[in-house]
Amino acid sequence: PTYDIAGLIAALGDIPVITEPVIVRRRSRDFFWYSPILAEELKSVAADIIVKPRDEADVIQTAAACARLRIPLTARAGGTGNYGQAMPLAGGVLLDMTALDQVIWQKPGVVRVQAGMNLLSLDKATRAAGFELRMHPSTKRTATIGGFVAGGSGGIGSVAYGGLREPGNILAARIVTVEEEPRVLELRDDAAQKVNRAYGTTGIITELEMPLAPAWPWVDVIVAFDTFWEAFEAGRSIAMADGVVKKLVTPIAAPIPAYFGALKSACPEGKSILLCMIAEPFLDSFKAILSGRGMVTHEAPSEEGPGQVPLYEYSWNHTTLQWLKTDRSITYLQLLYPFDRLEESVRKMMDLFEGEVLPHLEFIRFAGNITCSALPIVRYTTPERLNQIIAQHEEHGVLVANPHVVSLEDGSRHKRADADQLGFKANVDPMGLLNPGKMKSFVPVR
Ligand code: FAD
Repeated sequence: PTYDIAGLIAALGDIPVITEPVIVRRRSRDFFWYSPILAEELKSVAADIIVKPRDEADVIQTAAACARLRIPLTARAGGTGNYGQAMPLAGGVLLDMTALDQVIWQKPGVVRVQAGMNLLSLDKATRAAGFELRMHPSTKRTATIGGFVAGGSGGIGSVAYGGLREPGNILAARIVTVEEEPRVLELRDDAAQKVNRAYGTTGIITELEMPLAPAWPWVDVIVAFDTFWEAFEAGRSIAMADGVVKKLVTPIAAPIPAYFGALKSACPEGKSILLCMIAEPFLDSFKAILSGRGMVTHEAPSEEGPGQVPLYEYSWNHTTLQWLKTDRSITYLQLLYPFDRLEESVRKMMDLFEGEVLPHLEFIRFAGNITCSALPIVRYTTPERLNQIIAQHEEHGVLVANPHVVSLEDGSRHKRADADQLGFKANVDPMGLLNPGKMKSFVPVR
């Protein structure tokens, strides 16, 4: 479909826009190419125009104009979504949220922030007061808080605090609705979950209120082991040690670390490794728990400044990226293992897919239990085989958030609050203009 872009520009007044096709096309992409299936499916996706609001008033004016002219609207921030979450499938407006980048207020343990603020900048602001976000994605240096809440799930810190979806991990969200006369809604506590991982289909987030944790001096540690099981066992004892303050506990099987470029010297050939971020005062307790298991090959303060690569950029979805840098023949999956059969089901999957699905686990807390999320590397052959692998995981009770599909519904059969989010969408986006194609079961009500 073609949209009245000239009419839109006129209605936007002095709100900054970009119409240069090369730039619009480039910014219409995210990390969708991570998936060989989406790389093919979404390669021609492009918006018609980029609109860059300077404040919430600009967001409201843009939402009103889009509603009146029936032009689709897709929010985009850091553009690090890795399954096309931020890609405007139906064209229209790409709403660049990155100019809304200010802390509104902070008090001990809580920050109120504009949605487009970069996570590293936010960390600097809260650290000055002795706090930091409870969790962040491995894309902290490029992603935004709004993009994390709308498109992500958890990450570094989830071993202590669980995922974004756990009660208390998003305190409030302020959103703009897409109607001819947009409303501004404050969603608190459970209501704020309606925007979590909804891919921007349930309102444009302008502000978030997030809980904080004490900011520790973090130390990056790598421990090398002869076998993956030793790395797993050691990781589990660290994850279970509630008194040891930690942010990352990541067992990774050989030969994945062979692709870790700058870290290679700390990854002896053929060894599986455990990546950890430990608060400095607890290093001795950490080593006591290891009790001689494995060999510490790296131990250094976590640095995230320009030119430095923090250890967490080898964890979560970055593990896959490290490999993809030199070899695009692989892909990955996103899994959640059942906590009560953790070891058994990890072993089962390793046996079933030996050499084809290479283990990369992330210890997390999930609803009060320690379990593992996983982003294994998959040696990719065909879409059919990939779907078979997914189906076999599901048959064994391992939850799969399929990163090779664009819609929320296809991504996970186990996703929370679908009905809730659907009903809410009818209220805040009755014409279905927000990120069309991502919540595909939604039928416009106006
Ligand atoms: P974008 O990619 O720009 O947007 C993400 C989604 O949010 C889109 O659907 C977009 O429409 C929507 N959105 C953005 N801003 C708004 C807004 N203001 N209002 C409404 N909707 C909005 N995710 C994790 O959870 N944990 C990880 O550890 C992690 N690691 C990653 C590693 C790599 C290498 C890559 C490529 C991705 C990773 N991701 C991870 C996924 C992604 O990085 C995170 O979801 C990230 O936080 C997205 O932030 P962003 O600012 O880049 O958002």
